[in-house]
Amino acid sequence: MKKAIKITLYSLAGLIVLIIIGSYISYWSFSPEVEDVVTTSQNTSYFTDSYDECRSDFIRLADQLQKEIDSTTIESLTVQSKVDQNLTIDICYIPPVQDAGKLFVMSSGVHGIEGYTGSAIQKMFMSELIPDMGDDRPGILLIHGMNPYGFKYKRRVTENNVDLNRNSSVSIELYSTENSGYADLYNFINPLQVASTSNLFNRFFYVVAIVKIVKSSMPVLRQAVLQGQYQFPEGLYFGGTQPEPQIVMMNEYLPQYFDKYDNIFLVDLHTGYGEIGKLHLFTNPVEDDNIKELTETIFEGYEIDWGDSGDFYTVNGDFCSFMGDINPEATYISMPFEFGTLNSQVTFGSLHSIQKTIIENQGIQHGYKNNKQEKKIKSSFIEMYYPSDPAWKSTVIEQSREVLSNALENYMNIK
Ligand SMILES: [Zn+2]
Repeated sequence: MKKAIKITLYSLAGLIVLIIIGSYISYWSFSPEVEDVVTTSQNTSYFTDSYDECRSDFIRLADQLQKEIDSTTIESLTVQSKVDQNLTIDICYIPPVQDAGKLFVMSSGVHGIEGYTGSAIQKMFMSELIPDMGDDRPGILLIHGMNPYGFKYKRRVTENNVDLNRNSSVSIELYSTENSGYADLYNFINPLQVASTSNLFNRFFYVVAIVKIVKSSMPVLRQAVLQGQYQFPEGLYFGGTQPEPQIVMMNEYLPQYFDKYDNIFLVDLHTGYGEIGKLHLFTNPVEDDNIKELTETIFEGYEIDWGDSGDFYTVNGDFCSFMGDINPEATYISMPFEFGTLNSQVTFGSLHSIQKTIIENQGIQHGYKNNKQEKKIKSSFIEMYYPSDPAWKSTVIEQSREVLSNALENYMNIK
């Protein structure tokens, strides 16, 4: 009898060890790749790896458009900074052919580091799609690099550690939003030690995370972490205590354009969330039935991931909602384009994504174990928001070209 118990116990222990080893290997070998994509140099040529190059390319293309289309305006707005006096939001406005009352707006770099891809898409749009638009070209407003600090220094957040897509509001009520789910998870997502990928916490991060998922469920955790928080300035997804300077600037600057139109359509460009290489039309849920219908008409044939559906989440203080308040009289349709990089819609992808995000912020707040760790942590963070794979870059441009062409054609057809 005793022997039987012993055998059972040993087998159980063996099984547990096997499960730990198996899960460890499968977690750390998780590395999704873009498949079945034809990479073209035309598509990849739109990408450049420094903020200064992205900006000067944008201005060069804007200059070209100005030569071809009368009354095109170009403006650079300086964003105040304590560390860099050369950070600007660059804006190009192209008037419509005939005044149909419609304005199309495309913004990049709300999350700074995602601006590399956003900028590439804007460049493709300016080089290929605008010159091809016939008489039904709407008014077009291109906003390049909403968060130039994060863009240049390859962070998602602003200089003040603020997530601009949780900060965008002119009503101060936003900044007293409570997120009790976040406070409960604070210690887990904001470790206090120096950052190192090789410590035990990081190696077995996924085990701790899975225990938390079993206790609270993935959608609840995802929502608590990602919706934004306003209590912990050094923490992840901090939405600030007041609007960031560029939000105040846009609120003052944009009415000169927005007020001229009674129909405004915004595409805000992002990367990071979702299936690798796939464009997700991922938006906060829309309550107004008419706006929802117009959105579905514009993106007919494409799947829309409303933020309250299973694998997604909703956010407070998002840029799209803020932009809709600039001219509340206008019919306003908005759509974030979110290009997936890490299969974060599946559990392991989601855990890798949050783990990389945690350790990047940890390094900024508490320093790194050594230089090698700093390099490793930063490059893995960049790879998550701006993948180096040419196939990823190529498919991003390919899909943008197609979806933007169709969406704009449908937009011009709506009454
Ligand atoms: Zn983003």
